[in-house]
Amino acid sequence: MAKVLIIGAGGVSGVVVHKCAQLPEVFSEIVLASRTEAKCKAIAAQLNRPIKTAQVDADNVPQLVALINAEKPDLVINVALPYQDLTIMDACLEAGVDYLDTANYEPLDTAKFEYSWQWAYQDKFKNAGLTALLGSGFDPGVTNVYTAYLKKHYFDEIHYLDIIDCNAGDHGLPFATNFNPEINIREVTANGRYWENGSWVETPPLSVNQVFDFPAEIGPKKIYMMYHEELESLVKHFPEIKRARFWMTFSDNYLKHLEVLGNVGMTGIEPVMFEGREIVPLQFLKALLPDPASLGPLTKGKTCIGCFAQGVKDGKPVAMFVYNVCDHQECYREVKSQAISYTTGVPAMIGAKMILEGKWKKPGVWNMEEYDPDPFMEDLNKYGLPWQVVAVDPSAING
Ligand code: NDP
Repeated sequence: MAKVLIIGAGGVSGVVVHKCAQLPEVFSEIVLASRTEAKCKAIAAQLNRPIKTAQVDADNVPQLVALINAEKPDLVINVALPYQDLTIMDACLEAGVDYLDTANYEPLDTAKFEYSWQWAYQDKFKNAGLTALLGSGFDPGVTNVYTAYLKKHYFDEIHYLDIIDCNAGDHGLPFATNFNPEINIREVTANGRYWENGSWVETPPLSVNQVFDFPAEIGPKKIYMMYHEELESLVKHFPEIKRARFWMTFSDNYLKHLEVLGNVGMTGIEPVMFEGREIVPLQFLKALLPDPASLGPLTKGKTCIGCFAQGVKDGKPVAMFVYNVCDHQECYREVKSQAISYTTGVPAMIGAKMILEGKWKKPGVWNMEEYDPDPFMEDLNKYGLPWQVVAVDPSAING
């Protein structure tokens, strides 16, 4: 029996709130707070049990501390934006409460994300006796747990790791992003980066691709190499990894729109003057694009996200693929959301459950792969993201 404060009321938050509300024996009280309280109330109205809502500016530490002190939650779940990670961590330290998020900190004015800022809080959380769990979404999140699970049960050493994220869903709109457009476009337009033999290798954005044959009825799809934050923590915590890469599918239509928007300067994050005031082109573009939360009823098809690992066990070569397949429409029927928010929101709920049940709780700042993967993997099967692990032919992915 515990009380949670969930901050942010976007697409991912909607799923977290629904999934926590389904488990009153763990999440006995829920407070949902965000910049726009009307959005919290709209989510609350979808539930069949009452929750409390509040308004908060998560960039403002004193406001956050006042809210936490008033509500006294056992855990704060941060599903606002990566820009708010540090202010919410500061408030948790000041008010003495555990912390969880789904994406690592990113400064607003630089399209750059890395764990250094949050790892720097390690001693502060340790000394305060508080737990901070970083990146409890799908990727990062489940992909970290998948890697830890493969290592624990199938490998002595993982040498090559390929994380593969496929959204084979279609929303029927000319162009939309399936999570926050600003964060999504900053990520996709950044240089690619992969880990090889102890250092990072950079590639121009989306310049490396290959075809991967996905399970279920998804079939072959083009996957593009890009940088993703879990690579940083995984190569740190599994130093035997020789090469780690991240791949994502994009439709030709998505890429064509992105290219044109980039060519005309609409994906820029440097302010420009427009009619006497500064605007940031990407923030303006976000205002024009569909709200990802509105894609739920429109999106049909499946997602498949998994870890393809190669290495050795008892001196013999091993190659395994562990993955989940999720159906957009089934997610919508359950929690009124498409599968991208669903695959992020369910692991956020499970991470919270792990902390509240004391299974994943120790003072300090932790990435997902630093805990025992087994209870989390069990809960993925129970709460909507069942997985498969299969032996694979290493040639299914190009070196
Ligand atoms: P949305 O843009 O849909 O929602 C963000 C929410 O945060 C909005 O309700 C917004 O408020 C609120 N917010 C923003 N700034 C503030 C602030 N200063 N104070 C209070 N609330 C604020 O984003 P998503 O739901 O798509 O994504 C949520 C998080 O999940 C992001 O960090 C994203 O990177 C992460 N994510 C992680 C994934 C993973 O697999 N690990 C995958 C997908 C997303 P308002 O409504 O007023 O704008």
